[in-house]
Amino acid sequence: MLTNEQQRKIYDLRNSGLSYGEISKELNIPKSTVGAFLKNYPEPIMRVYCPCCGMPFIRVLDGNHSMFCSDECERIYLKAVETKTICKAKSTKK
Ligand SMILES: [Zn+2]
Repeated sequence: MLTNEQQRKIYDLRNSGLSYGEISKELNIPKSTVGAFLKNYPEPIMRVYCPCCGMPFIRVLDGNHSMFCSDECERIYLKAVETKTICKAKSTKK
């Protein structure tokens, strides 16, 4: 698993025009890992789905990101995990 720092450097080097092989050497990460990562996340911003309500939203990989679409969803979800119930927002969808 790549760290945030490694992810950021991969994008930096890729933007500088380096190949997968060159990035691999530069960061001492297997070329297959670099290739798989850039294939899955070609942009440092990706569209993901909130695990609580299922809403798609844009997540920035670098920096302070969350896997939820909102603080409210994070709160509901974590509470649901804690109490072993399903997410409230999700359960209303059915
Ligand atoms: Zn949500």
